[in-house]
Amino acid sequence: MEQLKKFIREVPDFPKAGINFYDITTLFQDPDGFDMALNAMEKYIRTKSPNKLVAIEARGFVFGAALADRLQLGLIPCRKAGKLPYRTVTEEYDLEYGTDKIQIHADAITSGDRVVLVDDLIATGGTLAAAGRLVEKLGGEVVGISSVIGLTFLPYEDKLSRYDVNYLISYDSE
Ligand code: AMP
Repeated sequence: MEQLKKFIREVPDFPKAGINFYDITTLFQDPDGFDMALNAMEKYIRTKSPNKLVAIEARGFVFGAALADRLQLGLIPCRKAGKLPYRTVTEEYDLEYGTDKIQIHADAITSGDRVVLVDDLIATGGTLAAAGRLVEKLGGEVVGISSVIGLTFLPYEDKLSRYDVNYLISYDSE
């Protein structure tokens, strides 16, 4: 999977000084690269036998949509607060400075659902942990987390220790 790295563009100091941004739009632009990532994510997700995918706004939607179609699974968007039109459940999570809120529709998950969470990148794990709590609030079980990139120099394991986490490539220093 290391070969996937050639499709990821690293943008220093975005969105602010000191952050190395892993830009996945260059992967989307390359049909072979995108297919390679989807094949590996699909393979992992199949081992978990989920019946739903929860995709995290916004880049997680791109992977989630393609994977839901390949796997014939229900797709649930997890969005920033205020974007979803119907009744929602909300979880707050910490940012570097302050907090943010994410939501899913309250009727999107029901008791007994087996859910895999999908996103492009795991940094601190805060967003995915909050998405996991949303699924659990509604009676679902998080059977796995699928991401393209894991930033292993950040302590995401603290927040995601309860979950089975899979990523395709990792970066172990900034
Ligand atoms: P976190 O909650 O800290 O795991 O942050 C994960 C979310 O923030 C993901 O949806 C990523 O798309 C985005 N993100 C955080 N850090 C980066 C980074 N260095 N490069 C690209 N995206 C990032």
